[in-house]
Amino acid sequence: LEPLYSFMIRVRIPGGLATADQWIAFDELSKTHANNTLKLTTRQAFQFHGVIKRKLKETMAKINDSLLDTIAACGDVNRNVMCTTNEAISPLVPDAFEMAQKISEHLLPKTTAYHEIWLDKKLLLDGKQDEEPIYGKTYLPRKFKIAIATPPYNDTDVYSNDIGLIAIEKDGKIEGFNFAVGGGLGMTFTEPGTYPRLGNILGFIPYHQTIEVVEEIVRLQRDYGNRENRRQARLKYTIDRLGIEKFTYLLETRLGYGFYPAKPFNFERNGDLFGWHQAQNGKWYVGLYIEHGRVKDEGDYLLKTGLRKIAELKKCDFRLTGNQGLVLGAIEDEDKFVIDQLLKEYDIWPRLRMSEARKNAIACVALNTCTMAFSEAERYLPKLMDKIDVILEENNLTEDEILIRMTGCPNGCGRPFLGEIGFVGRSMGRYNMYLGASFNGDRLNTLYKETLSEEEILAELKVLLKQYAEERESGERFGDFVGRKGIVELKPKVENH
Ligand code: SF4
Repeated sequence: LEPLYSFMIRVRIPGGLATADQWIAFDELSKTHANNTLKLTTRQAFQFHGVIKRKLKETMAKINDSLLDTIAACGDVNRNVMCTTNEAISPLVPDAFEMAQKISEHLLPKTTAYHEIWLDKKLLLDGKQDEEPIYGKTYLPRKFKIAIATPPYNDTDVYSNDIGLIAIEKDGKIEGFNFAVGGGLGMTFTEPGTYPRLGNILGFIPYHQTIEVVEEIVRLQRDYGNRENRRQARLKYTIDRLGIEKFTYLLETRLGYGFYPAKPFNFERNGDLFGWHQAQNGKWYVGLYIEHGRVKDEGDYLLKTGLRKIAELKKCDFRLTGNQGLVLGAIEDEDKFVIDQLLKEYDIWPRLRMSEARKNAIACVALNTCTMAFSEAERYLPKLMDKIDVILEENNLTEDEILIRMTGCPNGCGRPFLGEIGFVGRSMGRYNMYLGASFNGDRLNTLYKETLSEEEILAELKVLLKQYAEERESGERFGDFVGRKGIVELKPKVENH
């Protein structure tokens, strides 16, 4: 048997918006061509796991039939563009979504190879070479990530992206964006020169100039990014090598104009908005908790079947959030009842037995499908959360939102360095524990202890959570508390440049 006989396929969905028909198509595809689960990722994409090699091409073709594709869902190009997805959060979401789609289209590789290889299209260029106006012959030195957030929600963790666009509102529309550049969470334990970093805010750009500024940043990274060492190739290292002043100077010189001063905004929180909410457009949106984004039927919990039944009604769309969650959206008043009934019948919402910390927890896939993983995450965090829930209950903290995130390695897919409590796998059953990120995503956490076993993790949390329950100030978040108490030294928050 060849080593690579089973694959993961990631679908590009700018802004995470899928129709009911697309949900049905993917549900079906997961049954016939993958492992009968769907993974909703932290970048608002679908992943199919367990696609066997002989079905690879057929799966790609069927994804294409659903009017979505996998182009640039991986590789050294711009990846899935994220944006706030729940319109009940902000009336700016449709504008933000439109921009996410435009950027995604604009930065798509122009090569016809995808269609030729996967969809058996004829060679479109009669033997001529493809031209890549933005990426050139060498593409980017490394992957590139862009996200949009609509304050007061930082639900896309906008500062963790190469380009983070913070929507600024004027008269009910997006006037433009504050640009944050140079975010990225991945690091390598054995390479001291690698680190997680949050973006620097460069300033404000009006809506109509957004795409040209985004493109120029991508071009700068193409030209100045490190092509000798992939571990130093992300934009964050380019910026730190050049210095933010030189980077800004180069960018503004190429653009022929400068950034306006950043406009005021306020992020109150990240994470998802759960439950039923009505948007200004009169339609309903319901935010659902999907444990670590894994849509599956297990035992008598028929989550996948329930969501399929709702999709078959064709009365809502399906919006993937940046936190492995799902929003059923654009629901008319008269359709709310029937959807609510199905959610209750399948125990999808409300799930009353859950702590707020569990609702906000994120875990990457890790073992057994990610080859980079040193330890478990998605399969283990629910079990660890059972034990953490006991500690939360003992301290009356089940209603307190605390951000807990776990990954199987420091690549950062589950954004562990933005958890108020972050766990990063070191080896089987052992995790580094990080504390002190902010609740709104503008401060990274700090390494607290290394290579902890489950027993050690729980012993630490017993002390820390008890202390938090007893000694916190009114409204004080856990991440701020551990800093005030000197348990860890807090990192600086993102500042306007
Ligand atoms: Fe895999 Fe590491 Fe990403 Fe988790 S963080 S999915 S283990 S690469």
